[in-house]
Amino acid sequence: MKATVVGAGVIGLTSAIRLREAGVDAHIVAAELPAETVASAVAGAIWFPYGSSPDAPEAGWGRASLEVFADAAAAGAPGIALRDMVDLRMEAGPDPWWANPERGFRHTGPGDIPAGYALGYIQQTAVIDVLPHLDYLAGLFASLGGTITRQRVAALADLSGPDVLVVNCAGVGARALTGDADLMPVRGQVVRLGGVELERVTIVDEGPLAYGYVMPHGSECVVGGTRVPGEWDRTPDHAVTERLIEKAIILEPALVDAHIVDVKVGLRPGRSSVRVEHEAVDGTPGIIHNYGHGGNGWSLSWGCAAEVMLLAVG
Ligand SMILES: Cc1cc2nc3c(=O)[nH]c(=O)nc-3n(C[C@H](O)[C@H](O)[C@H](O)COP(=O)(O)OP(=O)(O)OC[C@H]3O[C@@H](n4cnc5c(N)ncnc54)[C@H](O)[C@@H]3O)c2cc1C
Repeated sequence: MKATVVGAGVIGLTSAIRLREAGVDAHIVAAELPAETVASAVAGAIWFPYGSSPDAPEAGWGRASLEVFADAAAAGAPGIALRDMVDLRMEAGPDPWWANPERGFRHTGPGDIPAGYALGYIQQTAVIDVLPHLDYLAGLFASLGGTITRQRVAALADLSGPDVLVVNCAGVGARALTGDADLMPVRGQVVRLGGVELERVTIVDEGPLAYGYVMPHGSECVVGGTRVPGEWDRTPDHAVTERLIEKAIILEPALVDAHIVDVKVGLRPGRSSVRVEHEAVDGTPGIIHNYGHGGNGWSLSWGCAAEVMLLAVG
């Protein structure tokens, strides 16, 4: 079987790799090449446990992805490392569902975190430096015989054929291709800082520093973040840059000595739930949709790609 995968972000690349490994003659068409993508090439990025419980499908996709990332880190793949992540909380409570002693789950002491926060959960995670890792994924796909062609697709039906499966991994671009009004951009701005080497990831989703994070990559780190649903504009906002740096210095005081390397704005493909499903199309193998991963596409990528492969070849 042949497959045309639309999209060269992390979702398209991982899906296309798994399809080729399963014997499908998969190739990618994409309006933007991996390093130009509006979400994958902008993300921080870390693996974060996603889903409401360990039994949710997203949690399974996440676990599967972390295993692949851990293997890639052990093999020395570019742009990936395992590091401790500190998740700050305003109040002590029961441990989160994703607490995993095998990944070193523990609590910080209050002396090790910013004022106003009660504790931090620490657990090892995968940290992805997205540009080198996208380049590595594109190289892996090419080594399996896959090609990436720059092409903006007007309609998924234009790609269909009697023996051509279409795989829709168009990120926020899937809104125009499917008419799915549940899919919308969630704008996020990040700042890359240089000159300071940090050991651990810090993230915070509540309290005065909410949505702040620091993700180290060698002597640089990516700090964020913002979430603005429905906003397509990708122009960086200078005031937001300053606020992100202020928050990052509270989280990691050593960053007071850092300098700005780059400022980027990305568009997460936000949706009420991730869409991974097959759509029948008469006279063709149909369409597999794999989009709507919001702020978790890196974390879910390999698990969703395995699901796509199963939908394609059974
Ligand atoms: C600031 C920020 C921080 C993030 N941090 C994290 C994080 O720490 N951890 C995490 O797991 N996730 C994170 N994410 C989310 C993650 O980056 C996304 O969920 C993921 O990258 C989505 O990948 P994608 O391949 O679906 O989309 P994209 O990367 O946007 O790729 C879409 C592809 O489809 C192509 N395409 C679209 N429309 C068409 C068309 N009509 N014709 C042809 N090609 C088309 C595009 O050209 C592109 O190649 C973050 C995102 C942002 C913006």
